[in-house]
Amino acid sequence: GGRSSNPLIRLHEDAASFYHQVLLTTKAGERGMQYARERELSRDILDHFQIGYAPENNVLLMYLKGKGYSDDDLAQSGLFIQTEDGRMFDRFRDRLMFPLGNENGQIIGFSGRRLSQDKTQAKYMNSPETSIFNKSKVLFHFAEAKKAARSEKRLVLYEGYMDVIAAYKAGVTAGIASMGTSLTDQQIYLLKRITNNVIINYDGDDPGIHAEERAVELFEKAGGFNLGLVILPEKLDPDEYVKKYGVEKYQEEIKGALSPTDFFLRRLAHKYNLQNDREKLLYLDEAVKKIATISNPIEQDLFLKKVADKQGVSLESLKASLMREVRKNR
Ligand code: ATP
Ligand code: MN
Ligand code: MN
Ligand code: MN
Repeated sequence: GGRSSNPLIRLHEDAASFYHQVLLTTKAGERGMQYARERELSRDILDHFQIGYAPENNVLLMYLKGKGYSDDDLAQSGLFIQTEDGRMFDRFRDRLMFPLGNENGQIIGFSGRRLSQDKTQAKYMNSPETSIFNKSKVLFHFAEAKKAARSEKRLVLYEGYMDVIAAYKAGVTAGIASMGTSLTDQQIYLLKRITNNVIINYDGDDPGIHAEERAVELFEKAGGFNLGLVILPEKLDPDEYVKKYGVEKYQEEIKGALSPTDFFLRRLAHKYNLQNDREKLLYLDEAVKKIATISNPIEQDLFLKKVADKQGVSLESLKASLMREVRKNR
């Protein structure tokens, strides 16, 4: 509630409701609506995320000028491209618009998705950095997820906006996403103030899994988090997974999130051909090294048992090898 005292924030909130109205009520918005239907975005979802449509021509500029914003505010908003002689044009054209909020939910930027398959254009285009928009501090859906996290007792981190939305439809309402860039320390700091229970559910493709590994390192460096890691099958992203397997299966994937050690061991197992004895020994060696870094002896035992069972080696031999590792590290 309440209008911000910052004109750039007011301008963004006006732009967001304008784009939203264009999508819902205008002829120009029909292209956007058709795309929204293809992506199975219901009216409720369009409203909750205040999704909009930026048409081809300069209508945002006209609209905001009509509302009395100064040329200076317009120029500093980042929503327009300026020519050398100072003329301005709408930056976002023919895109489905996702408003980006700050931690209080005030709109400070946009990301626009192209509707066409035209690969020469970026799939998503973000607002440029401005006095109110610093993408390394922004998390999509953060203010809403903060509220949801009070009852869900955890946050779920995604790669893409459409993943946050798919999760929301599946009842995982405390979902957030970074701006396509890798996660930053500032974003982790924002999360830490909400909850230390974080599930990471990036895309199931190779870039997604690698990004998830990097995110785990960042969270572990920050310390104090209780992480759950999801790896979706068939290189699917969460949005595609929900479409293919449905809401219940997706909720099971979230419930089955791996601990960091399980995640590490699973990734490690993929690096080696475990049918080959020599590679299996290398795998066991690395696995034991990792388990040796766990400080809780019961937890150590648990993971040793898991590895022993899975690889068909004796627990005693793994324990012996762990003891040797521990002595070496002393
Ligand atoms: P969609 O489902 O709409 O195709 P996605 O979220 O699956 O999109 P990915 O390619 O998996 O798209 O990228 C993940 C996220 O990375 C996007 O949601 C977006 O935030 C960001 N992103 C992707 N492409 C770009 C780009 N060209 N420029 C800026 N950010 C991008
Ligand atoms: Mn991806
Ligand atoms: Mn994706
Ligand atoms: Mn996707």
